[in-house]
Amino acid sequence: MGTCWTVFQSPVRRRRVQFDTRFNYSIIPAMHELAVTEGILKIALDAANQNGARRIVAIDLVIGELSSIVDDSIQFYFDQLSRGTLAEKAALRFQREPAQVVCLDCRHSFPARAPLTPQCPQCGSARLRVSGGREFHIVSLEVEDEPADC
Ligand SMILES: [Zn+2]
Repeated sequence: MGTCWTVFQSPVRRRRVQFDTRFNYSIIPAMHELAVTEGILKIALDAANQNGARRIVAIDLVIGELSSIVDDSIQFYFDQLSRGTLAEKAALRFQREPAQVVCLDCRHSFPARAPLTPQCPQCGSARLRVSGGREFHIVSLEVEDEPADC
């Protein structure tokens, strides 16, 4: 009975759903991209449902620079898997996080991208300590809310 005008009258509200990346939402980087994508989709849909979102517009992800995950294949799998869900047509936005390398001889520290250089650019030492660069997690979602009841 009747038409729901509320949808047209009120502009769709967009907001961001933030994840606590330190604990719950990291995805094991060694997983195959298809499995990783399934993980992303599940986490995103759960969060969207919990937050009463109508649609997921975008998903922000961090990928370590040394991770073997390829952005394009994630988006490819995601487009397939998300059909018919709240996340259909959502854009995946990837942010690459560089690894940090510290030279154990001269203490010089520098960001590293794959492939790693085996030597310190400052003193030529090969005694390097690499940290980070392999993380992979969801940072936030951009969602649209449920329209008001009518
Ligand atoms: Zn050095």
